[in-house]
This record gives sequence, structure tokens and C-alpha cells, in this order.
Amino acid sequence: MTYYDVVVVGAGGAGLRAAIEASLDPTIRVAVVSKVYPTRSHTGAAQGGINAALGNVVPDDSPDAHAFDTIKGSDFLADQEAVFFMCENAPEIIYELDRWGVPFSRLPDGRIAQRPFGGASFPRTVFSADRTGHVILHTLFEQALARENIHFYNEYFLLDIIHDGNRVKGVALYDIKNGEVVNLRAKAVILATGGFARIYWKRSTNAIGNTGDGVAAALRAGLSLKDMEFIQFHPTGLAKTGILLSEACRGEGGYLLNALGERFMQRYAPEKMELAPRDMVSRAIEYEIREGRGVGEGTSAYVYLDLRHLGEEKIKE
Ligand SMILES: Cc1cc2nc3c(=O)[nH]c(=O)nc-3n(C[C@H](O)[C@H](O)[C@H](O)COP(=O)(O)OP(=O)(O)OC[C@H]3O[C@@H](n4cnc5c(N)ncnc54)[C@H](O)[C@@H]3O)c2cc1C
Repeated sequence: MTYYDVVVVGAGGAGLRAAIEASLDPTIRVAVVSKVYPTRSHTGAAQGGINAALGNVVPDDSPDAHAFDTIKGSDFLADQEAVFFMCENAPEIIYELDRWGVPFSRLPDGRIAQRPFGGASFPRTVFSADRTGHVILHTLFEQALARENIHFYNEYFLLDIIHDGNRVKGVALYDIKNGEVVNLRAKAVILATGGFARIYWKRSTNAIGNTGDGVAAALRAGLSLKDMEFIQFHPTGLAKTGILLSEACRGEGGYLLNALGERFMQRYAPEKMELAPRDMVSRAIEYEIREGRGVGEGTSAYVYLDLRHLGEEKIKE
């Protein structure tokens, strides 16, 4: 049996950042477990960007405005303390990622660029062209690899959390390559196993591996799960495959059109239009289709995301 102080299950953005934090004390032994090779974690699929009130484009932006937009966008259902914590800390996290080597896109004067995104009252989204998650994931992996007290278990699948009914004792893993069961003992286990929207089999922007086995292990260990109903539906993807068409398409000025060629968001969110919060845009698309204004038939119907007016150069950029 191998002993660790902290076992982190998950090597996406959340797991790697947690592992780095735990490893800051060099006497702490940390293990990171991932069923896929870390750089294949789903964080790498995030394209559009990450919100932080840097105020680089409009100086009036602030963590309070970010918190207001987030709470309003959640229809006041969000945990407000968590929202304030996130919004107050977001700028420093961006500068930390920048120092660690994330190649954020820049303004002409060299400061980090920001673009408009849904539900935000200022251009607040920090990005790295259209591969923000990819570069964040790779940078965090590099940083974690550089720390001697972090040990990786790549392509090991969490089978179960080991506990004595009161306290966690470790994890039982399946070594996918060798077909063996391996137990790790740990004083603390952090679960960062990501989302699970692959349970929606018909259309999903999630990777095939996002199946929820991490939360299932927590449930089997008797832990309670919170807010399970809050699954995000991203409004735009390719009609047949569900492959994401980044929110940047609308952030940079794309139009949503129904079969009649109408910019139908006028009906649902006349001020914010295509940049209304994602749940509103998703619902609006669904209403249009159900009212018979979608393109195509039945459950395969869709609407258009029109970028033609942006011009070839802008789209390529
Ligand atoms: C297509 C797409 C685009 C997105 N775009 C954006 C965006 O522009 N901006 C934004 O802020 N957010 C975006 N998101 C959301 C964002 O990507 C996720 O919220 C975030 O990456 C989740 O990070 P994570 O570390 O929690 O999970 P993940 O990156 O999914 O990592 C989960 C980790 O857990 C491991 N794991 C899971 N189960 C097990 C198991 N049983 N045993 C062992 N290991 C396990 C996996 O191997 C993986 O390493 C997007 C999401 C998608 C799907």
C-alpha cells in the first residue's frame, strides 16, 4: 500500500490547481489520479475564455459588477458567498496563470485582452485565441510536473473511496493499462472529476469520458451531492454532432437566425440579444424550434448561427 497526504482524483484545471496548492508545502506528498492522460482532460475543450474583472478594456468593471452579473445570471439561485469569493479572486488567478506561462491574447498596448460574453455587463472574458482551456490545462500540467512532491497516476480509474464509515482512508483504483487494482492510502481525498453531461446521449458538447463516475463514487461512499440539477446547456454547437461552437462566435457579433431569417433573440432579450445568459439563449432556441420556426424537421431541427457579416479575416482570426 502506498501512502500519501493528499490524493487528488482528476487532472483537469480543478484537480491540477488543487494539487499544486497542496504541494506548496514540500513535506506534503500528493498523488494525482486521472482516468485519461492529464492533457486529455476535458478542460482542454474549453475555447471561449474565462471571466475576471481586470477592467483592461472598460476600466469601470469591478469584482462587484462581476458578482452582480453572476448572481443575476443565476436567477439568484447561486451560493452568493462562493460567487463573491470567485469574483474577488479571479483577477489574481489570471495574473498567476499569466506568470506561469499561459499565452493570453493581448491588447495592442500589451495588456491582457478581454472580449464580451453572455450575461456580462462589461467585456470581461480573458482568452487565448480559441484554445483557452487547452493552454491553461497544459500550463497547469507543466507546473505540476515541475513539483517533486506530486506523483501522477495516469490512466488509473477511481473505483471507490475507501473509508471506515466516519473518515476517508484512501482510494481504490483500477490500473487501466495493466488491469490491476491498486489501493492508495491518504489523509485527504479531493474529488475533481469534472462534469458528466455525457449522460445526455443524443447531443452533448462533453467528451465521451464525462460519465459521472467520480460523483457516483462519492454517492456510494455515503456523501451527499449538491446542486445536481444545475447542468449547463451551451446554446450553440454543430447541429448533428453537438461539437461546440464557442460563445466567442456571438461575443464577436454573430447572429442567431430562425428559418424565417429573423434575429429571434429580439423577442426574448431585446437588450442583450445573442449575449443574454446561456440558459436564456438555449431556451429561446428551443422555443423557436417548438413553434415551428426551426430549420429542418422534428427533434433534428436547429437554428442558424450566422457569422457571414463578420468577414473572412475576422472569422479566421
Ligand atoms: C466544449 C466545452 C467548452 C467549454 N468552454 C468553456 C469556456 O470557454 N470557459 C469556461 O469557463 N468554461 C468552459 N467550459 C466548462 C469548463 O471546461 C469546465 O467547467 C472545466 O474545464 C471543468 O474542469 P474540471 O477540472 O472540473 O474537469 P475536467 O477537465 O473534465 O477534468 C476531470 C478529470 O477527472 C478525471 N476523472 C473523472 N472521472 C474519473 C475516475 N472515475 N477516475 C479517475 N479519474 C477520473 C478525468 O480523467 C479528468 O482528468 C466548457 C466546457 C465544454 C464541454
